[in-house]
Amino acid sequence: MNLFDVYPLFDIEPVRAAGLSVWDKEGRKYLDLYGGHAVISIGHSHPHYVKRIARQLYDIGFYSNAVQMPMQQELAEKLGQLSGYPDYSLFLCNSGAEANENALKLASFQTGRKKVITFKSSFHGRTSAAVAATDDTAIIAPINETENIIFLPFNDAPAFEKALQEYGQELAAVIVEGIQGVGGVNIPEPDFLKALEAGCKRVGALLILDEVQSGYGRSGKFFAHQHAGIKPDLITVAKGMGNGFPVGGVLISPEIDARHGMLGTTFGGNYLACAASLAVLEVIENEELLENATIMGHYLKEKLQGMPGVKEVRGQGLMIGIELYEPCAAIRKELLNEYCIFTGSSSNKNTLRLLPSLTVSKSEADQFLKAFSSILSKKVLAS
Ligand code: PLP
Repeated sequence: MNLFDVYPLFDIEPVRAAGLSVWDKEGRKYLDLYGGHAVISIGHSHPHYVKRIARQLYDIGFYSNAVQMPMQQELAEKLGQLSGYPDYSLFLCNSGAEANENALKLASFQTGRKKVITFKSSFHGRTSAAVAATDDTAIIAPINETENIIFLPFNDAPAFEKALQEYGQELAAVIVEGIQGVGGVNIPEPDFLKALEAGCKRVGALLILDEVQSGYGRSGKFFAHQHAGIKPDLITVAKGMGNGFPVGGVLISPEIDARHGMLGTTFGGNYLACAASLAVLEVIENEELLENATIMGHYLKEKLQGMPGVKEVRGQGLMIGIELYEPCAAIRKELLNEYCIFTGSSSNKNTLRLLPSLTVSKSEADQFLKAFSSILSKKVLAS
């Protein structure tokens, strides 16, 4: 049987990884500044992470989650403490799309309404409701769902106010990314997020912050929306939460009451997922990774701004988009093939994305800056 061919893949077979380094089967060493779409938050094979998962497997065992699991409570408490949401509750699942699907469902249950506002250039995942809230041309989204999804321009508070006047009484939720990732690293204006928060309150809709990519310290705060000082009703997480182990979750406001059977999952919050997630939070706290994300993010942005061929550098912390005057594909290829550096792209083809582990060091940042600047300078000389 062959794999269903839905991903364009690099012809590289990684066999080992540690920190931001990845080795292929020929022994070549790469610098990973992408971390499998922002998944690697504390570095590949972090010793504390590996130990915690191994201890769970070998010393304690692996159980299904149909029984009481004190580790889930331990995880909820630690996440509440580090994120600044100790009074919220946690629903555990397996991925970002699933987290968004559950948040949309909760909003619909809570309000008894169906309509959802989302924004152009968003990405919320690939379950059917999540894909409908992602792509207004999605042919796979069932008609009844797409009819209920309203796409508005991003960062446009007047357009949002107008939509509220038209649909406010039918509105279940507004869903917005803490920082748009796949769409090109677009930062919501603090006033825009405040307008979403106030508008939702006014019409009785719920505000969902999709922090699947921008959360877990990547922006320098635990959640990117905390830069704007707002408090959403629902916050979705995944990616960096498990540092590669599949796990996701929804942080749920105390205003929303749980009932048995309301949500459910087979694998969500299993023991290994909890061990991985707890290890990530412990490392983020012990190694002060939010601070490192802020410092290294400033450093990278400062050095990148003004490089020849760079139109704009966007981002917060270690979620960085470098917009070029031309598509970034050839430069990414050269970074990989000539300098052994992994980077990412975005749906806006000119924007190269950096999503390194929050542990990135100055020498690793310098390795990239040197390679990137020599590629750009060569291009300027050739033109
Ligand atoms: N939300 C955002 C902001 C994302 O960037 C992604 C994935 O890239 C998702 C949701 C979907 O997450 P997953 O692939 O874990 O389902």
